[in-house]
Formats: sequence, structure tokens, C-alpha cells
Amino acid sequence: MVHHKVVIIGSGPAGYTAALYLARANLAPVVVTGTLPGGQLMMTPEIENYPGFVAPILTINLMEAMRTQAEHFGAILISDTVLRTDFSHWPFVCYGEENTYMADTVIIATGAMARWLGIPGESRLRGFGVSACATCDGAFFRNKTVAVVGGGNTAVDEALFLSRLAARVYLIHRRGTLRAEAVQQKRLFACENITCLWNKRVVSCQGEKRLNAILLEDTQTGLSETMPLDGLFIAIGHAPATEAFQGQITLAHDGSIITTPGKTHTSIPGVFAAGDVSDPIYRQAITAAGQGCMAALDAEQWLSKSSPSVLK
Ligand SMILES: Cc1cc2nc3c(=O)[nH]c(=O)nc-3n(C[C@H](O)[C@H](O)[C@H](O)COP(=O)(O)OP(=O)(O)OC[C@H]3O[C@@H](n4cnc5c(N)ncnc54)[C@H](O)[C@@H]3O)c2cc1C
Repeated sequence: MVHHKVVIIGSGPAGYTAALYLARANLAPVVVTGTLPGGQLMMTPEIENYPGFVAPILTINLMEAMRTQAEHFGAILISDTVLRTDFSHWPFVCYGEENTYMADTVIIATGAMARWLGIPGESRLRGFGVSACATCDGAFFRNKTVAVVGGGNTAVDEALFLSRLAARVYLIHRRGTLRAEAVQQKRLFACENITCLWNKRVVSCQGEKRLNAILLEDTQTGLSETMPLDGLFIAIGHAPATEAFQGQITLAHDGSIITTPGKTHTSIPGVFAAGDVSDPIYRQAITAAGQGCMAALDAEQWLSKSSPSVLK
């Protein structure tokens, strides 16, 4: 088993940024890439809100540049998936599908996947009218008609955000009441271009190359209708990729990793978390990259100041 100073789990904006900083600090970080090298951003063709690029940039080019930059300074990328970890002893051990990694410090940057409805047409039209992020894709729907699916705070936030861009926003919920906080509901109901569609579920997404309609079913009567639409935003939650860390570090109710506020320290000294896996709020490429930088600096400081004796 090879012993590394730093193992970074995940190769999205958080993982690559942490790798860049640690490689430049001469710590030869190893990045275990997982099954989605480049991270979730690879699921969308272009990005418009990553600072520094006037024109939309192809996400494949952005993530390729992040990877090459980290490798240029000495980061070592390994194609493997971490299945479980043992943080009870130092050095830490990460068990992958292919290899086992021993590490003085670990940065977890495994991201979080949006939950989807799993209905016909949804995955085919993802990025072509179907989205799970209004902050990311809302600007493509200026003066258009869009719908948000969900009944919690995220769905209401997404609907309110979209109401400032789109001509009309429908909030589709399978029940007759929302789970969102009362203050958010008040804002929602006061918004003139938002209409709530109660007791409805989306059955399918329609359109050849782009979404142009959805099939809606009334959960009480069973009647269905086709609804023309330009954009559909699914806001039914995210699933942080934390299976490999179950029982090893403290997780929140939603499965995300709990970190010290304003820092990237987890419940285990020497194990850090960055990006969407520990951030249920912002979930953006730039915030993930920023947290990757923070995790690298926190890990570097921990390595220079701490000894295994701090481990409980
Ligand atoms: C369709 C879509 C469009 C988006 N559009 C935008 C946008 O326009 N602007 C914007 O700022 N943000 C956008 N986002 C959000 C952005 O992609 C995320 O906020 C960002 O990618 C999070 O980065 P991350 O590094 O934390 O995690 P991720 O990018 O999710 O990367 C996680 C990494 O961890 C790896 N991994 C997971 N589990 C394991 C494991 N067990 N072992 C090893 N590796 C593992 C994966 O392979 C992946 O490489 C979009 C997201 C989606 C899904």
C-alpha cells in the first residue's frame, strides 16, 4: 500500500483546485477521480458564470484546463472509486475499487448529485430545457414560460429566482400544501407571475431536441393534460456522495458532510471536505473551487502543525 501525504477524493472543481494548491506546495497530492472525471459540470455543455470568461465556455475545456493545470504542478491523477474509508487510525486508509490508499490527510470532494424524477424524456432533455439548477440555467429562460417541481424551500427559492427572469413560472407540487418555510411561502404567493399547480405530478418531458411540453397528471382525479413549456426545473433535493464515509465522519441529516463554519475541517482532524459534498446551499462551480482552495490550505496547515497525537 503506497503512503501519500494527501489523497483528494473527487475530480470536480473542488478536487482539482485543492490538487493545484497542494501540488504547488510540493505535497504531490493524489487525486482519485471517481467515475465522473471533471465532476457534475461535465453534464452540461457550456458554462456562462465561471469568472474570467466573457463568452460561454465549453465545460469540457474548463475542466480539462483545471486538470492539466493541477498535473502541470505535480498532482497525480488515478482513475479509481473510493468504496470505503477507515479514519479511525492514522495514517488514514481509503479503499478503492482498484487500489488501497494510505494518507496523512484526506480531502473529500465527492460532490452531490441532483435528485431527478426518473420520468421519460427527462435525462434526454437535460441541458435542453430540463435543469436542476435555476442559478446555473435560469438566464437561458428570459421572458419564457418555465415550471419548477417540488414543495420544499429549494423549490420555492428556485421559483422566486426564476420569477425575476421568466415571463411566467409554475410551481408544480404533488400535494396540496408546501413544506417550505412560511416566510418563503408568503413571498411566493405574493409574486404575480408565479402560479402554483397543486396535486399534480409530471409524468413525462416532451420535445424532439428541446423541451417544449410536459405531461401532467392530477394526483387526485388521475386526469392528465399536456402543458406547453420552455423550461422545467427539478427541485426535489440533492444526494451528497458520502456512502464511502458512512460511520467515519459526522454527516448532516441530508447526508452532507458537516464542516466547521467558515472552514473545511470535518469531525476527524486531518480529514477535510470541500464543494457540494459539504455545501448544501451554494452548489456552484466557483464556490466548490473556492472551498477546494480552502481545504488545501487547511490540509497544508494541519500537516505542518499537527501530529497523529491530535487524533482521538
Ligand atoms: C447539469 C448541471 C449544470 C450546472 N451548471 C452550472 C453552472 O452553469 N454554473 C455553476 O457554477 N455550476 C453549475 N452546476 C453546479 C456545479 O457543477 C457544481 O456545483 C460543482 O461541479 C460542484 O463541484 P464539486 O467539485 O464539489 O463536485 P462535483 O463536480 O460533483 O465532482 C465530484 C467528483 O467526485 C467524484 N466522486 C464521487 N464519488 C467518488 C468516490 N466514491 N470515489 C472517488 N471519486 C468520487 C466524481 O467522479 C466527481 O469527479 C451545474 C450542475 C449540473 C448537474
